[in-house]
Amino acid sequence: MADIRIAIIGFGKIARDQHIPAIAADPAFALVAVATRAGAEDAGVPVYRDYREMLASIRPDAVAICTPPGPRHAIARYCLEAGADALLEKPPGATLGEVADLAALASRLGRSLFTTWHAQFNAPVARAAEVVAREGLRALRIEWLEDVEKWHPGQDWIWQAGGFGVFDAGINALSIATRLAPAPLLVRSAELVMEARGQQPAAARLEMACADANGRIEAHMDWRHKGQERWTIAIETGAGTRLLLSDGGAMLQINDDSPIAGGAGEYPALYARFAELVATRRSHIDTEPLRIVADTLLLARRILP
Ligand code: NAP
Repeated sequence: MADIRIAIIGFGKIARDQHIPAIAADPAFALVAVATRAGAEDAGVPVYRDYREMLASIRPDAVAICTPPGPRHAIARYCLEAGADALLEKPPGATLGEVADLAALASRLGRSLFTTWHAQFNAPVARAAEVVAREGLRALRIEWLEDVEKWHPGQDWIWQAGGFGVFDAGINALSIATRLAPAPLLVRSAELVMEARGQQPAAARLEMACADANGRIEAHMDWRHKGQERWTIAIETGAGTRLLLSDGGAMLQINDDSPIAGGAGEYPALYARFAELVATRRSHIDTEPLRIVADTLLLARRILP
């Protein structure tokens, strides 16, 4: 029998596309309930409109919080206090302060808290990180271009205050970059393209610096892109090796070799890590990608509509 009885809170695109199949495939977990305000007929487990009621009647060992970032802190706090370990979808909170508060609470209560960054769990990202650890980092260029209408249909929250705009996707690239970089990535300048429809940027350009990397560290993210999406990170190591992570980190090309994939896939690997954390009563807290977005929002020049 599975050791960890887990419930999903927030049953939208990512819960259905990734969490449900990853939990089903991992023998360490059994899905015991879903909490979603709109209800769901296809969950295959008891569905609750209020996560507090779900916690009180199901008493899951753990929860996966798959809501937008806005309500995440209040929900996570409630779950930790109710005795559940918590996996947080990315970004782990709307602010750095919220995540620090959750980390302190989890530590005080002896619960496991996991701030996930799914893109980091692609096996090719780990492979690229090994090469960079050996050879150093010279330059890095992120291109994260996608059509918002295709990837976020009907999601109004992404444009509202606290919704992250293009950083909802671009933070995945930053999470990979922080996994690769030998030192903190510091934002030196940034430009944000604002749109009339909301409070959040539709596109962003960042210039960053990293101790010991003497080449350019830059990022271009754009939600106005049409056609084939482009989720790439091109890296030049200190020894001159060229690495190209593509498909959001799922593929790696080294110099002119053929691109390689591999590994279990990001969400299965992420759940394997959560099982380990729960079993050993530890937390994994990483706020670096969120810190870079926060720094960008402090420094950026805005191009207004
Ligand atoms: P989504 O499709 O809008 O789903 C979010 C779900 O959260 C909704 O079903 C909503 O269900 C629930 N929710 C919203 N506000 C809530 C609240 N105050 N209390 C309780 N539940 C609430 O969004 P998504 O794309 O799945 O994204 C969710 C998170 O996953 C985001 O942080 C996003 O960055 C991350 N993520 C998304 C993707 C992707 O490809 N979409 C990929 C990786 C990570 P109810 O309104 O029925 O409660």
